[in-house]
Amino acid sequence: MANSDPDLAPDTVVVSAGRPAREHDAPANPPLVLSTTFHETRAPEPGDRIYGRMSNPSWDPFEEALGRLEGAALPALVFSSGLGAAAAALSLVPAGGTVIMPRHAYAGSVSLATAEAAAGRFTLRTVDIADTEAVLREIDALPGSPAGMLWLESPTNPMLEVAETARLAGAARAAGALVVTDNTFNTPLLSRPLETGADVVLHSVTKYLSGHSDVVLGALATSNPALRERLLAHRTLHGAVAGPFEVWLALRGLRTLAVRMERAQANAAELAARLTGHPAVDRVRFPGLPQDPGHERAKAQLSGFGAIVCIEPAGGLEAAEALVGAVRLWLPATSLGGVESLIERRRRQPGEPATVPESLVRLSVGIENVEDLWADLENALKASQRLS
Ligand SMILES: *Cc1c(COP(=O)(O)O)cnc(C)c1O
Repeated sequence: MANSDPDLAPDTVVVSAGRPAREHDAPANPPLVLSTTFHETRAPEPGDRIYGRMSNPSWDPFEEALGRLEGAALPALVFSSGLGAAAAALSLVPAGGTVIMPRHAYAGSVSLATAEAAAGRFTLRTVDIADTEAVLREIDALPGSPAGMLWLESPTNPMLEVAETARLAGAARAAGALVVTDNTFNTPLLSRPLETGADVVLHSVTKYLSGHSDVVLGALATSNPALRERLLAHRTLHGAVAGPFEVWLALRGLRTLAVRMERAQANAAELAARLTGHPAVDRVRFPGLPQDPGHERAKAQLSGFGAIVCIEPAGGLEAAEALVGAVRLWLPATSLGGVESLIERRRRQPGEPATVPESLVRLSVGIENVEDLWADLENALKASQRLS
C-alpha cells in the first residue's frame, strides 16, 4: 500500500491510507473485488487468498487504514457487524473466567455477554463504569487464573458516563485480564485506546467510520500478533465475514471522517448549550458541558466530546414520545453516527435496561446547518409541552 508515512496526522491518514501503490495507470482508489475464489497455480501457502471467507482484497485497504488510525502495529480485522466483532472479542475470554462490563455498555454487547454467561462460558459482572473504586474492587476480586476480561466503553451508550479508562485498564492488565475497548462513539480521532492499555479495540463501523447509515460492519484492532491470530481464526471459522462492497463503502465513508466529526461535534456542542436551561428540558447529558459529571475526565482523556447528546424533556415519557413525534428534519430512528441527525427515545428498544430513564431521548447530531437543527428541535420541544 502507498502513503504509509508514520508522521502524518490522523485527519490526513483518513484520506491517504489504504490506497493502491503509486504505479503508472494504477487506480487511485482500491478496486471492488467481488470474486469468492482465487487462481491457485500451486498448493496454497499461509497468507494466500484461497477463498472469500478467509480473505478478500477489498478488506485490506480498510483494515490497513483503521489499524494505522488506532496506532495498532497490525492491520485491523473487519467483521460482518459490530456485534460479530464483539463475539470474536468475547471468544478470547478463558473458559471459567470473568467479564467485567459497564451496565450501560451498548445493549447488544451486554445481551451477548449475558447469553454467554447463562450458557456457562464465563461469569459476567456489570458495573457503573464511572465509579472507579467500585470497578477496581471487581478487578481485585478477579480469580487469578483464568482471570478474564475488562470491557470498556466510555462514554457509555446512552448514559454518556465517562470512565477513568487508563487507570482501569492498567489495573485489569496487572490482574492478568484482557482489556477490550469499544471505541465506536469516539472513533480513533478522539481516542486511541491501544495507547492507554487496551489489548483490543472494537468498532461498530456501521456508525461514524462509515458515516452514512448505509453499511452494517464491525472491526477489531490489536497490536498483539497472538491475539490477532486468534481473532482471525474466529472470523474464518465462525464466518462473520464482511461483504466486499460494505468494506469498500466504509473506506469511502472513512475518507470524510475528520470533517464529518468536526462539524457534528460543533453542532452537538452548540445544541447542548442551547438545550441547557431550556424550560422544556429537565436534564441534558453531554460530556462537553462544563457541569456534566463526565466533563473533567472527558477533557483529560479525549480529543473531543463527540456528537451524542441525551436529554430528558420536562413531562417525562409522554413528553419524550411527543418530542420524537413532532420533529420534521430530525429523523426518528435508532442508530447513530451518520451524516443525518437522528432522534430516539431509547427505552422504545426492548433491550435497553431499566436504569436508563423512560424519558431519555438520544440525539445523534449530524452535519446539517445547526440553525435548521435547532429550529426543528425547538418547535418539537414546544409541541412536546403542549401535548404532554
Ligand atoms: C451499534 C453499536 C454496536 C453494535 O454494532 P453493529 O454494527 O450494530 O453490530 C456496538 N457498540 C456500540 C457502541 C454501538 O453503538
